[in-house]
Amino acid sequence: MTGQRFDLVLFGGTGDLAARKLLPALYTRHRFGDIDAASQIVATARQNLSDKQFRALMREKVVPHVPKADYDDAAWQKFEAQVGYVGTDANNAKSFAQLRARLIDEPERARVFFLATAPALFTHICAHLAAAGCVTPATRVVLEKPLGRDLESSCAINNAVGAIFAEDRIYRIDHYLGKESVQNLLALRFGNAMFEPLWSRAWVRDVQITIAETVGAEGRGEFYDATGVLRDMIQSHLLQLLCIVAMEPPASIHPDAVRDAKLQVLRALKRFTPNEVATRTVRGQYKAGAVDGQPVPGYLDEPGIKPASHTETFVAIKADLGNWRWAGVPFYLRTGKRMQERRAEIVINFHNVPHAILDVSGSARTNNRLIIRLQPEDGLSLDIQAKTPGEGMRVQSVSLDLQFEDELKARRLDAYERLLMDVIRGRLTLFMRRDELEAAWSWVEPIMHAWAAAGEPPKAYTAGTWGPAASSALIGRDNLAWLEEA
Ligand code: NAP
Repeated sequence: MTGQRFDLVLFGGTGDLAARKLLPALYTRHRFGDIDAASQIVATARQNLSDKQFRALMREKVVPHVPKADYDDAAWQKFEAQVGYVGTDANNAKSFAQLRARLIDEPERARVFFLATAPALFTHICAHLAAAGCVTPATRVVLEKPLGRDLESSCAINNAVGAIFAEDRIYRIDHYLGKESVQNLLALRFGNAMFEPLWSRAWVRDVQITIAETVGAEGRGEFYDATGVLRDMIQSHLLQLLCIVAMEPPASIHPDAVRDAKLQVLRALKRFTPNEVATRTVRGQYKAGAVDGQPVPGYLDEPGIKPASHTETFVAIKADLGNWRWAGVPFYLRTGKRMQERRAEIVINFHNVPHAILDVSGSARTNNRLIIRLQPEDGLSLDIQAKTPGEGMRVQSVSLDLQFEDELKARRLDAYERLLMDVIRGRLTLFMRRDELEAAWSWVEPIMHAWAAAGEPPKAYTAGTWGPAASSALIGRDNLAWLEEA
């Protein structure tokens, strides 16, 4: 067995995230030999369970979420022998003594607390961990999003956690950063010389970032209705993708070099005035429709949603960066639930040739376009103009396509597999620093305030479409269109 020995304590160990993502990811890394045999995983929640009872619960709730190709019963038995359970109530300081007794004191052993609970509990958990003597200077803490619902509440959480843990011991998860495809974006930009000279306003006309989901709010209605897509997706995933697309090449892959470069992007994002919010943002909410041929209810008819709720399930934004590289290049961001397809992609549209001498009348488009696909599969395609066979000098657009899965046959890690191993090994590059998070909230807040002041309901769109018509109009006013074909 290889690697760093560790104690990993999983708060929220009986919750949905633990069952669907965290424990399957730990099992898989265990199966592939990344978890030292002397390491232990201690799940905790308020329920009183013995180790044996928790292992039985894992068989029922966690095993169904392990990909079939990765499941092996003998491997599972070895994994579960390293998993225990301690009942702990975040609101009861005394209950932390039992947890303290489970931790192993060894200088070389990493100690990680993963907080997969409601963020309202983070402050209590950190304070009680410290009071019970569980925190050493080398202890790491992992915080699941959402970290607050605005700048003030985010600062309150960061202050409370920061009172116990130094900044370089805090791992704030944005699981998008753990995706293989997002890592590939870093490889594309900083592992190839040919893109960098083109990566600026001189050659790029516009950038589109889309994360479209086909699922609705089902199952998480109450959480979703109190949150909305601006807080849930734009403030985190879309802004992080924008940072990776737009950042200056960092001097190294060192966490602070990368995070400094991302922070500069967030600080360059122009803040909207209330008038600009009205013209540069679109908020929508889905009504009943059909997704993949199946009828689905409207948002207001989903369980847990307040009657006449104004919570948005779709947002489109035209953002601008105030810096030399990107001045004048619109960055269009779009994300929503119950959309036509599950798709996440970044489209870089280059300018047309400065002087046209060829017949482009048969071409679907005349500019070059780079599409970086993140979901459902990761891939790259580059649209170029090629000569149409036959007489005359006519050109048409064709695509150079690369599917990473076909090209690189190795097994791909789930985002949580990578992120959990990064925490255990002390690698911070893929986690958000406090100043990044706060810069993101500072940009999003004027949008939240202007929407609240206007008091208008979101624009309705039919489930199974690409969002409200106003979203097409937002980009159409610039004589552009969203990429929506397959
Ligand atoms: P969940 O299913 O409601 O689980 C919450 C967990 O916290 C349970 O294990 C619960 O167990 C425990 N808990 C509740 N109150 C507690 C207390 N006072 N002391 C100790 N433990 C307590 O929630 P989840 O969906 O797993 O989400 C957890 C966090 O991850 C949330 O912040 C969520 O926003 C975030 N997140 C979730 C997902 C997802 O896909 N689920 C994705 C991204 C982020 P007991 O009730 O037995 O104590």
